[in-house]
Amino acid sequence: MKILIQKFGGTSVSTHERRALVVNKILKGIEEGFCPVVVVSAMGRKGQPYATDTLLSLISDEFKKKNSLGVDLLMGCGEIISTVVVSDELAKNNLQAVPLTGGQAGIITDDSYNNAAILRVESEKLLNILKEGKIPVVAGFQGVSEKGFITTIGRGGSDTTAALLGVALQAEEVQIYTDVDGIMTADPRIVSDASLIEEISYNEVFQFADQGAKVIHPRAVEIAMKGNIPLAIKNTMSDCKGTIISNKAIQSSNNVIDGITSMDKRVQVTVECSKNTDNDNYWVLFDELANKSISLDLINVFTKQKIFTIDEKDLDNLKIIMKNLGLQYSYVEECTKISLIGAGMRGIPGVMAKILKILARERIDVLQTADSHTTIWCLVESKNAERAINSLHRDFKLGGCEG
Ligand code: ASP
Ligand code: MG
Repeated sequence: MKILIQKFGGTSVSTHERRALVVNKILKGIEEGFCPVVVVSAMGRKGQPYATDTLLSLISDEFKKKNSLGVDLLMGCGEIISTVVVSDELAKNNLQAVPLTGGQAGIITDDSYNNAAILRVESEKLLNILKEGKIPVVAGFQGVSEKGFITTIGRGGSDTTAALLGVALQAEEVQIYTDVDGIMTADPRIVSDASLIEEISYNEVFQFADQGAKVIHPRAVEIAMKGNIPLAIKNTMSDCKGTIISNKAIQSSNNVIDGITSMDKRVQVTVECSKNTDNDNYWVLFDELANKSISLDLINVFTKQKIFTIDEKDLDNLKIIMKNLGLQYSYVEECTKISLIGAGMRGIPGVMAKILKILARERIDVLQTADSHTTIWCLVESKNAERAINSLHRDFKLGGCEG
């Protein structure tokens, strides 16, 4: 039995017309010889009657604080409604579906309501339904505690449900259907000819931070990576091939760079360690920053200087810490961290040289860099970021026209 997990997000199941497209995708799966297991999110977005946020707006903040068991029971309703509505749609197409809560599908969690941890997946019931030639339609984002209460597994958790079932059932693939074609080589609002990335490794998706997290929940990627199950991001509204996330992508990639993303509102901080005493105790500063929950990025520790970046929202707190510790420092506001991502860059010489050459040609100052096996980061002033990203995107031939 070749099992395929097909997860449909809130917008995909929000209207009758869209649910007809969902049925087409399931039919296509069956035509290709797969036994589909469908996972659904709550219908629509905030404002629409059964969306998770709409359900949450029905109860007081007071209740939310004190009755997390009740909150999970309420939130779980959105997905449960979708399972029955989608099953109805399948029945109209002569497909026998079995709507299931997460618990009925065998997802067992601990009892940390609102953000429960998965204990195990008992896949027997799903396998029996599949053997009968029926389609299980599972409520995403929820499980059941061992005491028998409905739990939810964290916002955006339906992707996680899909990945969990994919691993438990040893599916051929987990398809995540959404309202975009997949992961792009750059943000299309910044780069007009940004193109779709057809294949990418699990690790690279984490590097896509914002963009990656928007199309798929990082926890789902982590689970699929551990279980070595390929994930496919696809558009319910189109026939586009989408983006395949797997380990194979690393072997087959010819590109050193697969995509570029960026994060703005960064502030670069330089601490001068003039006296020996400063230098002996410099860790006190990092301790203080941690105590105030200030997260650091691009950290370079030199004997005479410590350089790092922080989010703009933490600047006021940083100033207070520096004053209290009596440290000399300077900072550059309005910076953007550009990430060039590509598992294929590992062990390839000259990638950094090429990046720096492109930026120098554009007369864009690079304020700081860092690198890992899959990513090179460059910090630039935000006023230059759009130009930098476009030049890098063009020169690394990531655009749609150049293929
Ligand atoms: N409906 C849930 C949420 O809005 C889960 C999901 O959509 O993945 O967070
Ligand atoms: Mg989602």
